[in-house]
Amino acid sequence: MAERGKRTVRDLRRGNRASLLRHLYFEGPLSRQELGRDTGLSAGSISNVVGELIADGMVEEAGAVESDGGRPRILLQVAPGYGYVVGVDVGETRVRVELFDLALTERAAADLPLSDSGHDVDHVVRLALEGIETVVREAGIDDREVLGVGIGVPGIVAQADGPDAVPGDGEGIVVHGQTIGWDAVPLGRLLRAGTALPLFIDNGAKTLGQAEMWFGAGRGSGNVVIALIGSGVGACVVTNGKPYHGASSSAGEWGHTTLRVGGRTCRCGSRGCLEAYVGAEALLGRWPGTPEGVSEETALAELLAAADHDPEADALLAEAAEYLGAGIADLINLFNPHRIVIGGWAGLMLGPRVLPTVREVAAAYALHHPCAQTSIELGRLGPDAVTVGAATLPLARFLDTGGERPVGLPAQAEPERQGDPGALRNRIARAVR
Ligand SMILES: [Zn+2]
Repeated sequence: MAERGKRTVRDLRRGNRASLLRHLYFEGPLSRQELGRDTGLSAGSISNVVGELIADGMVEEAGAVESDGGRPRILLQVAPGYGYVVGVDVGETRVRVELFDLALTERAAADLPLSDSGHDVDHVVRLALEGIETVVREAGIDDREVLGVGIGVPGIVAQADGPDAVPGDGEGIVVHGQTIGWDAVPLGRLLRAGTALPLFIDNGAKTLGQAEMWFGAGRGSGNVVIALIGSGVGACVVTNGKPYHGASSSAGEWGHTTLRVGGRTCRCGSRGCLEAYVGAEALLGRWPGTPEGVSEETALAELLAAADHDPEADALLAEAAEYLGAGIADLINLFNPHRIVIGGWAGLMLGPRVLPTVREVAAAYALHHPCAQTSIELGRLGPDAVTVGAATLPLARFLDTGGERPVGLPAQAEPERQGDPGALRNRIARAVR
């Protein structure tokens, strides 16, 4: 009984820390009074927990505001320099690695192009480890200051250890990336062989989804689908504020839903998938004007520019818009979202041209009632949102546990105090521009 009582008190304390830390992170800077009003915790609890968080270096003062007739109220915020998080995007053509402080201000970045060997597993692991080492070195920080590394991958991410997995351990994580030739790749174990940092791995569309939900076009709604359109196509389905994973985490493979029985062959080996009509690789593969030896980004920009005078390019984009609209109608009928956000580098490039058609087609194919309540918008965080989203994986763990460090990791080094209070807002403002 005593043991149970002790655990309950500890859980409660941890819950209060998490609640305040999370609230300060997303809504701060806030005064103690505002924290009490928003979280429902007593003034005494706020005072105790905030005192602890300040002593731990996780929270710092951020100026003061006048209050009606009383003493000025001190504002508090999560200390940006308390620790750092790394985001890795294993993309279609490159591995991008960025290191952020806790306000998600970028401190260092590395772009490592994939070679002709494509997504050869050992090569990708080597590039990711090289990138992680580079950004930590360039930022001039110690490994112990890194709260974790988040990795977004193009494939289904399964946790072989099930619920027994140690968060941040990564060992049991296996990736099934059918379109890039990854069959049950033990990515967590392979990365673990080269780094002691906490590892968090998820599907790239889901990390993009988390970034848009936290800071971008998904903010303020709990029922959103974030579509990722790059070379391939994926989606993150958020219901009641949580990403929907399904039985083994493969939910959201929207790109491989069949839109045409017996249709074009897809990279996954099946036929008639949405991706085979909308993904950048499929689009460029069908355009005779696709230039040789340039990146997919450059080639897609040329396709878009050519569409004004090249009827073939125009027809391809019109067809893509129609399939995308029909695919979105399916999402509306299946999930009844408030909002559908189109992101990913190709989605953001295609968006301005195809969005009016996509909206029209979606309205024509979807049921009227749910469609009338759904808006279709472009993502706001730019083409690098997968990297930001990957970095939110260790950050989410940090906030959810009230600042607990992952098990079995080195103790926290002396925190730096050089964060800029407005950094998160600056980053978001930059991303939105
Ligand atoms: Zn497919």
